Amino acid sequence: MGAMAEGFETIRYETDGAVATITMNRPDVANAQDSRLIDEIDAAFDLADADDAVRVVILAGEGKHFSSGHDLKALVSGDGDDPWVALRDTPEGKFHHEKTMYFERCLRIHDFRKPTIAAVQGSCVAAGLMLAAMCDLIVAADDAVFSNPVLRLTGAGVELLVEPWEIGIRKAKEFLFTGDTIDAQEAWRLGLVNRVVPRDELTAKVRELADRVALVPPVTAQTVKDTINHTADLMGKRDALKYHFMAHHWVHNSATALDALAARKAKGSMRAVMAERDKGVTEPGT
Ligand code: ZN
Repeated sequence: MGAMAEGFETIRYETDGAVATITMNRPDVANAQDSRLIDEIDAAFDLADADDAVRVVILAGEGKHFSSGHDLKALVSGDGDDPWVALRDTPEGKFHHEKTMYFERCLRIHDFRKPTIAAVQGSCVAAGLMLAAMCDLIVAADDAVFSNPVLRLTGAGVELLVEPWEIGIRKAKEFLFTGDTIDAQEAWRLGLVNRVVPRDELTAKVRELADRVALVPPVTAQTVKDTINHTADLMGKRDALKYHFMAHHWVHNSATALDALAARKAKGSMRAVMAERDKGVTEPGT
């Protein structure tokens, strides 16, 4: 019998045998990541870290979609009582917010000592892809669709530019410049995901894989995970991610991005701003 942790509002945290499952639980907004969700994922990883019975962690999303990315509605409107959002009025505050809540929180998952598996269905967009890519393995449902349309929205990607590491240099450029989507089969071909499974078997197949990984003694699983991550770091991964994060912030504070943000506030949506700016050009992902 598994156990469910109390006290979470935007996720579920369950343990069953050697496997802990963190499920983002904001299906009404396609698991858009607001500060509470990000905090609760982090707290759930604390629980998984502290629990010696847990050998593998699954990160999943409730509902039709894995994650639509950051909760831009909360960020742009400034509504609500999120102190992080209030900080974003200055470049300093924006940097501090994104470094703490996006950059460091993501790397914490990347560096988490126990093996992790993302279970991805439906849309996996921008920061949703960034989050999935922090996990060691990704299993995609056959309806999974990956995209990062942020460049045309006047953002320099998201905070961690995972694409060069996940799909290769040339494909990363095409993916980011066009905003085109990658379906589950293409994601598998590119090496972005380990396996593609039927949508209705996603939960069972991910659990099956987690149970296989859980057979590896923790000391060997954790040591080899660390070595592989260190190999990527020696290839420049961590420095490249850091470089991009700084560059990403310069663009956040560029005149072009600030103008786009003002236009978005005036017109109500970035889609409306783009429709006027990019007359006649197909929207990304359509
Ligand atoms: Zn940002």
